[in-house]
Amino acid sequence: MRILLQFPEGLKQKALGFAKAYEAEGHEVFLSASACYGACDLALDEARWLKADKIVHFGHNRFIKGDLPIPVEYMEYRLDIDVEGLLALLSHIEAHKTIALATTVQHVHQIGRMKELLEKNGKIVLIGKGERAQLPGQILGCDGGAVKSVEKDVDAVVFVGDGMFHPLALITEKPIFAYNPTTRAVKRLDEEIMALRKKRKGSITRAYLCRKFGILLSTKPGQFNMAGAQWAKGELTKRGFEAAIVAANELEPMALKNFMAFECFINTACPRMADDTEEFGKPVLNLDMLIDLLKIIDGAAEGGKR
Ligand code: SF4
Repeated sequence: MRILLQFPEGLKQKALGFAKAYEAEGHEVFLSASACYGACDLALDEARWLKADKIVHFGHNRFIKGDLPIPVEYMEYRLDIDVEGLLALLSHIEAHKTIALATTVQHVHQIGRMKELLEKNGKIVLIGKGERAQLPGQILGCDGGAVKSVEKDVDAVVFVGDGMFHPLALITEKPIFAYNPTTRAVKRLDEEIMALRKKRKGSITRAYLCRKFGILLSTKPGQFNMAGAQWAKGELTKRGFEAAIVAANELEPMALKNFMAFECFINTACPRMADDTEEFGKPVLNLDMLIDLLKIIDGAAEGGKR
């Protein structure tokens, strides 16, 4: 069988070992060198050109719900943590009885044990389920639903994992505590969440002054949103703005810089691109932010201020 192996950046260092293992089983193997940010980002184009029989996608679980033109096998990369380490959280969450617990795909296989440990120590632990993330308690950078779905019934949120990319998807009114299983440090994330909210509001305020909009449409299979891009273009043009849809697999700030006429980008792809306004050098609004902007514009027009 001809197989295309695809790895997220952090696992590419292991690619050669996996390639050899598949070859030893008699397969013809190719490695995808494209950047891979999530299971939204399947290397379908490469597979098509290579006439691959299958993609083996490492490090993520299933994300795209519809049928795909080529079989995709997902190989989660599980990283065991020392669950007992979560005891470090207890002094931080003393005041909170009911907790929403969430983690990333690498650790989600241990979420039952994490829950058990916290419950043994007097907590009530709720585990919700997101829309895009496949497993209960699993969050993605674009899907904090595992927390949102139980938020109203909890006093606080606990996230287990490294880095800030995932917990910043958990925009919530409840206090958030992040436990890093590598350093065993516990950090409250309220300030970071507040800063992100402010940044997004600031982008909307800056976009209010813009007349020319580039609408970003990604051709990555799990990010492609033609209906959203067309809707955005229609809403902007009917209000007298100039707008064009800009499509690419990889919506790189460097490549977009030359579209100098655009004063603002409307993003229909990975929603976390809206956090990269510095790299784009202009405001970047997700569709929910565009809805807020349109309400402000319409309100100003009704009040005769625009
Ligand atoms: S859309 Fe963005 S946040 Fe969601 S899985 Fe893809 S890369 Fe991650």
